[in-house]
Amino acid sequence: MTLEEVTGRRAMHELSLAQEVLRTVNDSARDNGIRRVTRIRLVIGKMSGVLPEALRFSFDAGREIVPAWTPGLFAAARLDIVEKEATAKCRRCGEAFPVGDLLDLPRPCPACGSTDLSLDGGLEMFIDLFEGD
Ligand SMILES: [Zn+2]
Repeated sequence: MTLEEVTGRRAMHELSLAQEVLRTVNDSARDNGIRRVTRIRLVIGKMSGVLPEALRFSFDAGREIVPAWTPGLFAAARLDIVEKEATAKCRRCGEAFPVGDLLDLPRPCPACGSTDLSLDGGLEMFIDLFEGD
């Protein structure tokens, strides 16, 4: 299966994200004298538009092309992806409730029926941690 088959037009997006993650980890590993990264954990908001499968695929492609400060830095690296639910918060009564994706909105607050909602979380994408030795 090719990256395009998995992701369609999003392919470039996830590939550049994966490369950015790898570059960031590489720089941090170099600064800390880490020669072998064993695990990278990413947090991806469910509304960030990033597809975890595409990112995983891109990660494997990216580690072949992103220059590592020392050979084999990413050879044993495992990618963990934590998907974070988005939360909607009602501006009228303050009720907070999870929403699956953007197609879920607008929908009324389960507590008071208001549709005046703000989104809290679910848009993030960051490197939570990485491990190595
Ligand atoms: Zn409400």
